[in-house]
Amino acid sequence: MKSWTSRPVPELPGSLPQLRLYDTALGRVVDVEKQPEQSMYVCGITPYDATHMGHAASYVAFDLLNRAWRDAGVRVSYVQNVTDIDDPLLERATATGVDWRDLAQSQIELFQTDMDALNVLAPNHYIGAVEAIPDIVPAIEQLIADGVAYRVAGSEGEPDGDVYYDVETAGKRSDATDAWTLGDVSGLGENEMLELFAERGGDPARAGKRHALDPLLWRVAREGEPNWPGATLGDGRPGWHIECTVIAQKYLPAPFTVQGGGSDLVFPHHEMGAGHAYSLSGVPLARHYSHAGMVGLDGEKMSKSKGNLVLVSKLRAAGEEPAAIRLAILAHHYRSDWSWTDAEFAEAKDRLQQWRTALDHAPAGSAAALITAMRDELANDLNAPGAISAVDHWAERAISSGADSSAQDAALVTDAIDALLGVEL
Ligand code: ZN
Repeated sequence: MKSWTSRPVPELPGSLPQLRLYDTALGRVVDVEKQPEQSMYVCGITPYDATHMGHAASYVAFDLLNRAWRDAGVRVSYVQNVTDIDDPLLERATATGVDWRDLAQSQIELFQTDMDALNVLAPNHYIGAVEAIPDIVPAIEQLIADGVAYRVAGSEGEPDGDVYYDVETAGKRSDATDAWTLGDVSGLGENEMLELFAERGGDPARAGKRHALDPLLWRVAREGEPNWPGATLGDGRPGWHIECTVIAQKYLPAPFTVQGGGSDLVFPHHEMGAGHAYSLSGVPLARHYSHAGMVGLDGEKMSKSKGNLVLVSKLRAAGEEPAAIRLAILAHHYRSDWSWTDAEFAEAKDRLQQWRTALDHAPAGSAAALITAMRDELANDLNAPGAISAVDHWAERAISSGADSSAQDAALVTDAIDALLGVEL
């Protein structure tokens, strides 16, 4: 699938120091090993309700990582999927009387326009679930052949043949230290897992499963649901975790550097993806797991059912500047849960104005120290609020100096704010 187009990233003198990042699976901040090329997979949207502020914050968070690596002088290989077939998409299409293909197409277009507006660098590969089905089918066949996946017999109106991943058998397959067992990524106990599994699209009560937490790999065709050829699996459509696993394994090295997404993807999505990948290849999916916090509205969880989704496209249509939206997001550390408020958005707009005013008074020789300070903050687990605060101090100093602007420093500061924070002044 076609991706959006990145705008050029200015090059800065010098480079980012050693990058440290919080690893969810290890539960601590770690040094990210230096390599000539870093690789990242960030789970994409299911195309309905695009692009609410939670999506935007998550993609902006991993855009910071992408920019930090580039500033450190390494190449970045970045893959993102789009789950253009899954239950929630079909449910929304049915509820609104829109063809699921039209709904997906329109929401993907809206998402890409929003990403472009927010200056989020595009992935190298943007892959739809539907286009990945020819790669997903043989992977599921392999899991069945290896005894870590099984077909469930039909019952209670469900047809024969849905395929599930056997979490217990898979977890016992290897005694290698890097082998996957259930809980390795999320660190959760079984009761917590069961609760989240039911909340987030799993089917713990499905009759015929070996373990309540076994996730769906292949859903055979049902009357009135779209389906695709599945070779020995029969016609049907793939589960969500195997979709991301297969796409990541096809387009990225094994293991790749960072698996990213919102914190609601830790379990079951990233947990199961890690299991699928190990079962398929015998090596871990990713070296590190990194997660962005959740965004609410005025202290409440943002959801369609509450009617309180803040959409990037609506803000843009109301004439709000994307750079201000991005700056409002970056005022929160990517790992924190926070709420969108009008008051904080107003602060972001004032700050953007303040920074622009400061460029007219950039003190000669002031840019280098600011760039060093911003890099130090971003290398420390992508501390954007720290980097913003460094720019604020620089801006206050510049404005209070009342000096004529040094053109060279103004240009360097403009480039640094764009290259490192993705905010265009
Ligand atoms: Zn995913």
